[in-house]
Formats: sequence, C-alpha cells, structure tokens
Amino acid sequence: MVEASVPGAPSRSRDPYLSVVVPIYEEEENLPILQAEIAAVFDRMPFACEVIYVDDGSRDRSRQILKRFYLEDARVRVVLFRRNFGQTPALQAGFDHARGRLVVTMDGDLQNDPADIPRLIAHLETGYDIVAGWRKNRQDAWLSRRVPSMIANRMMAHLSGVPLHDSGCTLKIFRAGVVKNLRLYAELHRFIPAMAKTTGARVAELVVNHRERRFGRSKYGIMRTVRVIFDLMTVKMLIQFASRPLHWFALMSMPFLLAAGLFFVSGLIDVERWRIVGEFKVTFPTIGVLFLILAVQLFLLGLLGELVVKSSGVHRRVILDTIVSEVR
Ligand code: UDP
Ligand code: MG
Repeated sequence: MVEASVPGAPSRSRDPYLSVVVPIYEEEENLPILQAEIAAVFDRMPFACEVIYVDDGSRDRSRQILKRFYLEDARVRVVLFRRNFGQTPALQAGFDHARGRLVVTMDGDLQNDPADIPRLIAHLETGYDIVAGWRKNRQDAWLSRRVPSMIANRMMAHLSGVPLHDSGCTLKIFRAGVVKNLRLYAELHRFIPAMAKTTGARVAELVVNHRERRFGRSKYGIMRTVRVIFDLMTVKMLIQFASRPLHWFALMSMPFLLAAGLFFVSGLIDVERWRIVGEFKVTFPTIGVLFLILAVQLFLLGLLGELVVKSSGVHRRVILDTIVSEVR
C-alpha cells in the first residue's frame, strides 16, 4: 500500500461521497487514458470523489504509473498487492478501503466507460441500493465470451431470482452498506446483487457503454464461465443451506427412508406364493435396516449442521446480516 503519507503527495480529501474501485492487472497502456477519463468525470461532480486503484501484482509498468497518479492527484488512492490474487480479491480490497457513501466498481481496461457513472448515480437515487451495468452492446468475441456468458447469466438469473441480464459487468454502483463487511473470494463479486437481494436490497440494471479492448489482453478464457457456474452453486448453497441445514439433510435422507420402507414391506409379502426364495424374508428387512440407519444418520447430521450454523452465526456474519443492517 502506498497509503501511508508519501513525501510530496497532496493530502487526500477526508470524506469523499463517491469511491470508484478499479482492479488493475497489467494495464499500463490503458491507465493514462483511464485516469484522464475518471478525472474528467470527477471534475463535473458536485461532491468529493476518490478513485482507488488496486494493483493486483502487475509486472509491467502499471505500479509505477499508479504511484505517479497518486503523487499528482489528491483524489487517487492506490493499493498494491504483492502478487496476483485475482479480480475478486482486488475488488474486496477496494471495498475495504473505500470511504464514500456510494461505491462504483469498474474494469481498468477502458472497456467500461467512466462517463456512465453520473447516470448510474442518478438511477440509484431514484430508489435503489444497487444498479448493475448491462453491456447490451457488448464488444467481446461471440463464441468464447458472449455465448457462455449468456448461458451463465440465464442460470444465475433463474437460480438467484435476480433477473439481471449481465451479472458479469464490473461496472456497478452500490450504496456503501451493501459492500462493506463482505468477504468475497473466488469469482463471488458478480454475485453481490444476488446475495444482497435475499436481504431486501433493491436491485436495478442500466444499459451502459461497452468498448472494445484496445491495449493489453484479456486475462480470462472460457474456463472462467465454468468457474462462475461452480461459484453459482456455492452461493446457492451458502444462502439456502446455511440458513436451514436440517431442511437439506432431511431432503437427502428421504430416498433412503423410502428405500427402507420398500424393503420392509417386501419382507412382509408371502414369498412362497410369489415363488421367490424364502430367505428374502430375512435379507430384505436387513437391507431395510441398513437404509434406515443411513436415513437417520443423515437426519442427525442435519441437526448437527443446524447447531453449528446457529452457534457460529457464520452465514449471518458472512453474507446476510451485514447487508440487511446497512442497506437504507
Ligand atoms: N484483473 C485483475 N486481476 C486479475 C485479472 C484481471 O485485477 O487477475 C483486472 C483487469 O486488469 C481488468 C479487470 O480485472 O481491469 C477485468 O479483466 P479483463 O479485462 O481481463 O476481463 P474481461 O473484460 O476480459 O472479462
Ligand atoms: Mg476487459
């Protein structure tokens, strides 16, 4: 972190209203243009703003360039990671350091357009806690990016119940309460709207500009979609399972209970008449007992899960409570 006072740096505004968080991984050619665009937007704002660049362990000149921005512009703050941790941890660090009442996230490769920020704010202020950007006219490759992303978005909208067209768009605005105290990992940043929605956050979307990548290269391939889909299951689990483990385990024990019942009943049937070997009278109920034990075990595991969740308060701390208590 360059945050500790660096000789010669202008002093930072203490109380910005807007924080813009930008993860940076090897974007040296994009940075000067990006900084100029963000500064131009800030100049037109009626309140104090800050931009937090989080350098995710770049090995090109990005870090030096960011240090220069920090010295030149009092609205710039910089977080430097020691190595590459990924876009989600970078955003998380940005959230941790953001001091604004409103927090905007955007990519640092010029694909998102800072000129959309005033529109996002205006839309948020019509009564939302999150406004997500929708890259309706997305400038990325069809087969490797847009099609997989469309499938993932449909699944996400369906499973999370938040009908966003484009969860993967980094350009989003949040009221600070939504993103403070989050603990994001993996690809979870794109699920903030889904997680927040379960606590009653008001979520909207807005069509935003999307530009082709001119400099540098994308850091992701098709494998990201696969990871996103797995993360989707994690989130579904976290939200549903964490609140009612017994429910889930009871559901899982049902087929075993059913099987146990079937084996008991078939043990009662007069096997002589059905011309089945008489020993089944013993074998079937025994198998039934095995299934019954399995079902009971699963149920008890559910009870144990219930106890663990209740006493640790884990899901409340991680996702749910923090959001609901601070969303206005
Ligand atoms: N990024 C990052 N760490 C990474 C990969 C990417 O901070 O490990 C940043 C990157 O510099 C950019 C944003 O995350 O600002 C989005 O990355 P990219 O443009 O490669 O993703 P795409 O737009 O292709 O989905
Ligand atoms: Mg990009």
